[in-house]
Order: sequence, then C-alpha cells, then structure tokens
Amino acid sequence: MTHAPTIPCGGDVGHVPARLPPVDPPPPAPRHVNFWAALALFWILPRRYGPHLAAAPFGRALAAHLLSLVAAATVVGIAVMARMTTDVPDLSRLRLFLAEGVLHLAAWSTVGAAWIPPAVLLAVVPGLLVLAIAAMPWAAGGDPLRSVFRRSIKNLYWSTTVLIPAALVFALVFLVVADMPSNARRPPGTIIVIGRPRFDWPQLEQTGVETIVMSLVPLALLALRCVLVGASCYVGPPVGPGFEPREPRCDACGYPLIGLLESGRCPECGEPIAASLTNLRRDPALWDPGRLDAGWLRRTVSLHDRVLRDPRFARTLPVHGTLALARRVWHQTYILFLLAGTILTAIYVALASGSDRHPGVVFVFAPFVLAALPALQTASVVFASIWGALRLGIRDLRISMTVAYAAAPHLWPLIPLFLFTTASIAHVSEWQRVPPNTFEVSAGTVISLIGLSLGILALHCRHLVRALRDVRFANV
Ligand SMILES: [Zn+2]
Repeated sequence: MTHAPTIPCGGDVGHVPARLPPVDPPPPAPRHVNFWAALALFWILPRRYGPHLAAAPFGRALAAHLLSLVAAATVVGIAVMARMTTDVPDLSRLRLFLAEGVLHLAAWSTVGAAWIPPAVLLAVVPGLLVLAIAAMPWAAGGDPLRSVFRRSIKNLYWSTTVLIPAALVFALVFLVVADMPSNARRPPGTIIVIGRPRFDWPQLEQTGVETIVMSLVPLALLALRCVLVGASCYVGPPVGPGFEPREPRCDACGYPLIGLLESGRCPECGEPIAASLTNLRRDPALWDPGRLDAGWLRRTVSLHDRVLRDPRFARTLPVHGTLALARRVWHQTYILFLLAGTILTAIYVALASGSDRHPGVVFVFAPFVLAALPALQTASVVFASIWGALRLGIRDLRISMTVAYAAAPHLWPLIPLFLFTTASIAHVSEWQRVPPNTFEVSAGTVISLIGLSLGILALHCRHLVRALRDVRFANV
C-alpha cells in the first residue's frame, strides 16, 4: 500500500481547507413523464415518477389534481345512481339514511360539532398549504427550502390521484358487497362510546359502511406512501445546501476553522479540531442497529439506553448523508415499541382474566400504538424541521429529520400511558356495567390522554431542541 507523499503545498498541509466538499453528488436531470401514465400509475409508482413530476411545472400537478377530483366524483356518482335505479326499495332507505344524517348532525350540534362540515370546506386551501409545509421534511433532497416547498405541494397534488382508484374500489364495494345484510356478514364487534355521542349508526351499518371503510384503508396507506416518498429524491440543477461546498466550522461552537492546524484546538472553545472534521466522534457505527439477527435486541436496547441517559446524545450523531441510517433507527425503535406493547398487553390480559371484556382491550390499545405513535413521531419530525430552519438556520431539513429519527426512543413513556389508558377504559366499562363488547370512554379520559400525550411530546421537543443545537455546526 502506498501513501500519498507529503508535499508542502503553499504551507497548507495539515491545515484546515477553505471549503469542505458538498454532501451530495450532483443530482440527476429531470425527465419528462407522460401525463396520462402518471395520472394512472403515480399511486403505485411514486418513487419512479414522483421526483420528475415534482420538478415539472405546477400546472401539470394542479391539472392532475382537478382531473382526479372530477373522475372520482363521477365514479362515485355513477355508483350511487346505479344502486338507486336498480334497487328501487332502497330509495326509501336512502331517504331514511339522509334523515338520520340530519338528525345526527342536529344531535352533534349540541356538543358543538355542527360547524365541522362547513369548516372543513373552508379549510381545504389553507389545509393543503399546511400539509405541504408539514410534508416538507420528506421532500428535502439537498435543494433550497423554497424549492422543497414547491416540490412538496406539487407532490401533494399528484398524491390526490389516488382518489381515482379509491373511487373505483368504493363503487365496487358499494355495488357488490354493501347490499349484504350486516348481521350475516360478521359477528357483533367491539363498539366504542366516547362521552355521549355513540360511534355507531344503524343506517350506515346497513349500507355496509364498515366494509367500505376497511376496503379503502389500503388505498389510504398508499396515499400516505405517495406523500412520504414521492418527492424524496431531488432532480434538477445542483443548487442548495446539499450541493454547495461547506465552510469548515468548529463542531462545538461554530468558529470558522479555515487555515488552522488540523492537529490543534479551536481558539474559541478548545475543542480538538480533528474531532470537528472527521467522524472520530460522530461515528456511524455507534448508531447502526444492524440487521434483525440474534444480537439485534441487545444492540437496539443499548442504543436506546444511550439516547435516554445522555442529554447530549446528538454530539455523537453523524448528520450528513446518514438519513437512511437514522430512519432505520426509527423503524427498529418502532419494532421495539410494538414488541413491548404486545408483551405488556399479553401480561395484562393474562393477569386480568376472569372477565370476558379484558381481551377486548387489545382492540382499544392497538390503534394507539399503530396510529397515534407514528403520528406523534411525525409531529416531532415536523417540529424539528421547522425549529431547526427558523431558529437555528439548519437549511437542510434532512439534518433535522435525522435528529428527530435518532431521538425517537424519547417516546417510550407513550407505551405505558397508552396501556394505562386502555386498562382504565376496560375497568370503568366493567364498573358501569355497559353491554359486553362495548367500551365506554368518558370525555375526561380522552382529554387527559391527549393532554398527557402532548405533555410527553413537549418534553420530547425540549430534547429535540437541545439535540438540534448540538448538530447545527456539524461537518460530518
Ligand atoms: Zn469551538
């Protein structure tokens, strides 16, 4: 093995260079995608089409969005008309259904919910803008924030093309499956009652609303996938924080290190300069939970232990080009959450046996872990990106996202909170002697659950702010 000769080069050998190389290689050029192919296939091929559609003009995305709305409304309208004309006795049922709807709305108005439908209509445009801002971390590809925002909103418009297959599935289920009598279709399930308004609706039950909702769940997940991965790669000119040479700074205090001796220390804070420029301290191996093999659990638990014990954990986190690694940390953290939730629920059900209600807690607990936990983690990613960009000048949202993924173990308190809430719901329902397979959830429980979850999230955000401060000057 030969070593490069150490030739003095203007006295710069051993000195910190004026610029560090860009984080990312130059991005590929945008490609033209056929509009109709994208309209038909974007919802299953967001990774292939997304980056190029997000780089294309805004008008194409808007046209795809409007066309999808019209097509979906047409398909749903035809399905409803078809059912009304072929199934004449249903006309009376439809009238009953609409009357029930009005009555329900009136009943809801007493709990202050009648304003929801008009508010939803009024909130569509600003809502889409908020959603585009919230989805920005997933659209960050090393380009400037303005470009990330534009690509995020175009990707959001393209993601609405999933409405076309969703409308087709709805029409199919509405015409074929929904006519079956609901009682023959399935045994009575778990009913959840929140406060006074009950979330069961006999008329809707008759139209097989549950079957329709269940058949649309996979499409909702596909839509979510489109939003998250559609614009995740950037194609276009090499402009932005990922493609510019970087000024070397002290990792600890941000002091510009240009021209200083690499073997020396920062004149401002005394930090060894070598630690700021190499991954001596920010070591990817420290963060790699590796494959799901025999040693996986031990490695992941020790990683969590480190994050939870050390408030300065982000001082060892590499943040440039390590988003995939950090995302793996979050995925494996989530697997650990699922594992712990399953074990704790099994223990609870085993200990609380003797009542036929307790196995049902699984149905109450599962949505918390499957939906609320990823939602709160998503909220923390959005918070980290906005705080990092506005307060700390972190222009590359991928850095803030890496921090939020690595900090995910701080969400651990949510697991006992969810389990405790579930158990208390089961016990209160037992005392209230509500019918079997029914859980009564008081408004107080809902409010305290949301309050405590937000409290845990707020604490988590405090950790995130500290962690973001610890990576703002990182060179690696
Ligand atoms: Zn320093």
